[in-house]
Amino acid sequence: MAVGHFQPAGKPLNIQVVVALSAGELDDYDKGILVEASRLAKTVAAEWSVLSFAGASDEAIAALAPYGVEKLTLIEGAEDFSDSLEVQGELIAALAREKGAALVLLPHNDRGEALAPLLAADLDSALFTEAIAYRVEDLRLQLTRQVLGQQVAASQSWDGSRALVLTINPRILSSVVLPGQQPGKVQVEYWRSFKPPAAGATRIIERIPADPQTVDVCEAEVIVSAGLGCNAQSFARVEELTRLLNASLGVTRPAYDLGYSGFERMVGQTGKTVTPRFYLALGISGSMHHLGGIKDSKTVVAVNIDPKAAIFPNADEGFVADLREVLPLLIERLKLATGGAA
Ligand SMILES: Cc1cc2nc3c(=O)[nH]c(=O)nc-3n(C[C@H](O)[C@H](O)[C@H](O)COP(=O)(O)OP(=O)(O)OC[C@H]3O[C@@H](n4cnc5c(N)ncnc54)[C@H](O)[C@@H]3O)c2cc1C
Repeated sequence: MAVGHFQPAGKPLNIQVVVALSAGELDDYDKGILVEASRLAKTVAAEWSVLSFAGASDEAIAALAPYGVEKLTLIEGAEDFSDSLEVQGELIAALAREKGAALVLLPHNDRGEALAPLLAADLDSALFTEAIAYRVEDLRLQLTRQVLGQQVAASQSWDGSRALVLTINPRILSSVVLPGQQPGKVQVEYWRSFKPPAAGATRIIERIPADPQTVDVCEAEVIVSAGLGCNAQSFARVEELTRLLNASLGVTRPAYDLGYSGFERMVGQTGKTVTPRFYLALGISGSMHHLGGIKDSKTVVAVNIDPKAAIFPNADEGFVADLREVLPLLIERLKLATGGAA
């Protein structure tokens, strides 16, 4: 493997991985980024270690071992600044600089998204966010992300001559330990900045979850999508079901043409490419123009009256049923289960 540019002085490239250890525990983002760190380190023949803030439980530290973590540095003295990403960024950047990090790696969750530009500005480094793929090509690390409503893949390369802050799209993160991963013997060290942190200009006051009714359908976790198999009455029920499931509404092109929803909720080749955890396709035939927009959904469930509908071979679960019968029953069941709240 050609990694010459990544080892200018014959020294392995140093990767610092930032994990949150929120409430002292290892969450799925932490696990996912550790798996990715191990994979990336192999790709560019690098050494890697982990940074976080003091307060992790012994169990959380022990849980790092299966992911191959050998070194964990916990930043002390930031206990009063858990609501300031600026202060956290400043401390992480100072430590990463001290460690000689060529690459700082984070998951692109809300915290990683906010920290990454702060780190890049502080480190005067390059920044690449929401990577979905990477590979070494011509002695460079070729990084890819989706742009323009996730319709187009854009790539940039990094030659290692300048530090890089890199965030990984959470949708490609998996907490499953890589096959053959050797467990690490986690050594913990504590680090304190010689310059005591001063309050930043901004603070996190409150975390407000996204409203599924208004969130961009590309960002939605659960989507209920209506096709031409929904008549006006069924569509009203689809909207009700969407509210009951706390889901986002999607539509096919013909359903959009009928005025069921705005253009911004149309899914497919002309519409949006979506990547939800759960996609419920109601009365959708499964044309290639629609399927192209849902192929990266984690689980697709389809309801269609036609057993030969093309959606079925492309769904994880399929139900041959008439929506006019199924929707009222489903809504009734959900109302019972949720105490009638819609
Ligand atoms: C260049 C181009 C771009 C396009 N871009 C897009 C795009 O971005 N998004 C998109 O969606 N389409 C797009 N289309 C259109 C696409 O080709 C299909 O025509 C469209 O996806 C079909 O939508 P549909 O499944 O709602 O309708 P249909 O294909 O008419 O399917 C309706 C389905 O509902 C089922 N059904 C009927 N009654 C019931 C019932 N009572 N209960 C249960 N099921 C029932 C039927 O069996 C059928 O399978 C594009 C087309 C072109 C040419």
